Order: sequence, then structure tokens, then C-alpha cells
Amino acid sequence: MSSAILQIDLDAVLANWRALDAASGPACETAAVVKADAYGLGAGRVAPALARAGVRRFFVALAEEGAALRQTLGEAVDIFVLSGHMAGDTETIGELGLTPMLNSLDQVTRHFEALPGAPFGVQLDTGMNRLGMEAGEWAAVAPIVLGAAPRLFLSHLACADEPEHPANAAQLTEFHRLTDGTAVPRSLAATGGVLLGRDYCFDLTRPGIGLYGGAPFAAARPVVRLSLPVVQVREVLAGETVGYGCTWRADEDSRIATVAAGYADGLMRTLSGKGTLWADGTPCPLVGRVSMDLITVDVTHLREVPEALDILCAEQGIEALASAAGTIGYEVLTALGPRYARHYIGGAG
Ligand SMILES: *Cc1c(COP(=O)(O)O)cnc(C)c1O
Repeated sequence: MSSAILQIDLDAVLANWRALDAASGPACETAAVVKADAYGLGAGRVAPALARAGVRRFFVALAEEGAALRQTLGEAVDIFVLSGHMAGDTETIGELGLTPMLNSLDQVTRHFEALPGAPFGVQLDTGMNRLGMEAGEWAAVAPIVLGAAPRLFLSHLACADEPEHPANAAQLTEFHRLTDGTAVPRSLAATGGVLLGRDYCFDLTRPGIGLYGGAPFAAARPVVRLSLPVVQVREVLAGETVGYGCTWRADEDSRIATVAAGYADGLMRTLSGKGTLWADGTPCPLVGRVSMDLITVDVTHLREVPEALDILCAEQGIEALASAAGTIGYEVLTALGPRYARHYIGGAG
């Protein structure tokens, strides 16, 4: 084993999807967000497993991601593009039958002129001020756009991971105000929104991070395990230092394992001197700086040094690693680099 192994439990992804689907109730459909290569886990394997389990609607960020997903999944699913219909996307959207979520007057014009009659949805801004038409802009185009039969109204919550935040109720009210009385299916909730309750779920939910085991879905089954091979073990005498900048000095004679992964593989440099790796359930402190391809770990207390140390495992999930690195689970997952060998388990085929 020379490269690190990223194990991805597709059964856990499916269990998480089913749990979120159950939470939103029988009247609401649950899609899957597989943008950024399914949050770094490999849309080529994750999306087919979800489709086999019955998922019929998928969301991606970019038309190019939608094109790749169409090749993977074929014609039987709906693929929504969150960035809408950008300049240069027309051919991809038209030929592959993607559904852009139109975000602005410019995008509405582009779509209606370039692909008249082609499916689309509408993204409305209810307060996040990132994507989507604002109330005034929407009012101006609503009669024309509604006449062209949008497939979906979508808006996105800014603070869904903080249930008490007043922005949640304010955005819910605004979404009702903009969309009540139309026959168009509606979607407001991503993972956090589903957990806010059924008022937030409308016709379709769009979980991403919850499928992959991240917060705020605290009950999620963990999906990833990351084992880093030990390249070398050395004795370091009391007073000697380890790594760039000589930032860690041994208080006593120590044994240091050098493992094969670093910040080029998405293990944030902010873990320097702070992270923990695990040897079959025993914690081992990361010492010194994280370098591009290597990490050094104090294994003095281990009776035997294993062939690999885990940095994502039962003892330390993506949220625990994220908080040690000063970031969020989303960034931990999407940073996982291309050098890991991805091993998939489960997923019914
Ligand atoms: C990324 C994204 C999602 C998925 O959000 P999670 O928090 O990962 O569940 C849903 N909708 C939009 C518009 C997004 O950008």
C-alpha cells in the first residue's frame, strides 16, 4: 500500500438519504446534491448508487458537472444546475437536457432566446443575497416566466444550521410571499432546512452534506474513513526537532511515524501541531508542521506501529477533524485530494 486509502461507505450515504427523506414526510420528494464531485467523494459512484435507491432529481453547481452526471446516469433523471444558464452553457444545457435554475433577468433572457421551450427553474433570493432574483426583479418578469411553465422555484437558507436564527423564519415568510398561489413545485431546504421541520420542506428538498455524514445532520452515519500509510518510523532523541521550522522538539526520546499525505491532499496546514491520528482506536498526536505530502506523528506510546494511521475514522469524523483544522466538514470533504485511492463499499452494485 503506497497511496492513502479513502474508504467511502455507499450504504451509509443511502441510509442518510433515507433518514432525511423520512424526516421531510411522505408528501415531499428528496433530491440529492452531488456538486463538486459529490463533495469530493466521487459523483461517478455516489450518484448511481443514489439513483438505484430511487433518487430521481440531482443538483449540481455547474453545467459541466451536469454534463458529466448525464453521461453517468442517462436520461431517466432530472439534473438541475444551480448556477443557472451562464454565457457559454447553451449547447451543454440544450444537448444534455439539463434544467438551469435561472438566477437573473439576464439568464431568463438568455435561456428564452437560446433555448425556447427548454425546461428551466427559477431561483429566488429570499435574503441570502448570493444567487437568485430579488422580489422587484421577479415581479417584473413573473408574468412572462410563469407563462413558460417553470419546473421549480428554489431559494436557499443562509442560517439553516442555526435553528434559532431569525433569518430562517424571515426567509420562509419571504419564500411564501413570492411563490404562494402558483402551481410551480417549490424547494427551500438543504440539509439544515430539512432539520428545521416540515414547514421548510415544501415539495422537494436538496440535501448535500447530510448525505455525506456532515453537520448539521448530527444523526448521520459516517461515510468516510481515511487511512494514511506509514512511510518510515524513526527514533528522535530528547531535544531534537521534527519537520519544517523545527516547531516541535522532543521532551524525551520519542518514536515518530512519517505518513504519506499532506496539505496537497487536503489535510489543512492549520492542523500543524494540533491534529490527531488514530492507531486502532489509540490517539496519536500530529507533531510539527503538516507539509505538502507528509505528516509526522508521535507514536512513542504504541507497542507496535501499524502499517497505516487513520485521520478519518470512527473516533474522529469529518466534523471533529474540521474543528481541529478551524474549518467545516464541507471543506474537509471537498479538499480530499485526487491522490487517494477511493475504495467504495456497499451501494447495491
Ligand atoms: C450546496 C447547496 C445545497 C446543499 O446544501 P447542504 O448544506 O450541503 O445540504 C442545496 N442548495 C443549494 C442552492 C446549494 O448551493
